[in-house]
Amino acid sequence: MLSKKIQDALNAQINLELSSSYHYLAMAAFFESTSLPGMATWMKVQSEEERLHAMKLFDHMCDRGGKVVLQQIAQPQLHFDTPLSVFEAALENEQKVTGAINSLYALAQQESDYPSQVLLQWFITEQVEEEKTAQTAIDQLKMAGSDASALLMLDQQFGGRSAAGVE
Ligand code: FE
Repeated sequence: MLSKKIQDALNAQINLELSSSYHYLAMAAFFESTSLPGMATWMKVQSEEERLHAMKLFDHMCDRGGKVVLQQIAQPQLHFDTPLSVFEAALENEQKVTGAINSLYALAQQESDYPSQVLLQWFITEQVEEEKTAQTAIDQLKMAGSDASALLMLDQQFGGRSAAGVE
């Protein structure tokens, strides 16, 4: 059985994952509107991954007799200046998620909730990957700078991303 504290924290994390999914979907729409279809694909894959993260937490709660309480999702940022600024916003979002996962893990330790700790270890590993991936995209976009042909090459490369990271 889940403690009230853990239950509330897991519901908040489900909301954060779904909000992230919505953020990335808005980024995909931005890239579609700026004719960078590869980066749009990258963001669609990312959006779907976040939805699956929410579902991992959702299933964990249901399996343990918890009550899933879905909360409101705010409108995400719709306009961006450059492709680089989109990925910088993505990294910022992932850093926020990492902080939330770490706090959740600390709470699961406090509450001696071992099953939640095991689940959250997967998320801790995942966040290292998420931050690294966003940082690599930022670094490569900085290298491309204002060179259109380099940007189009990156767009092709980002478009090759598949949903391999999702279990
Ligand atoms: Fe996530």
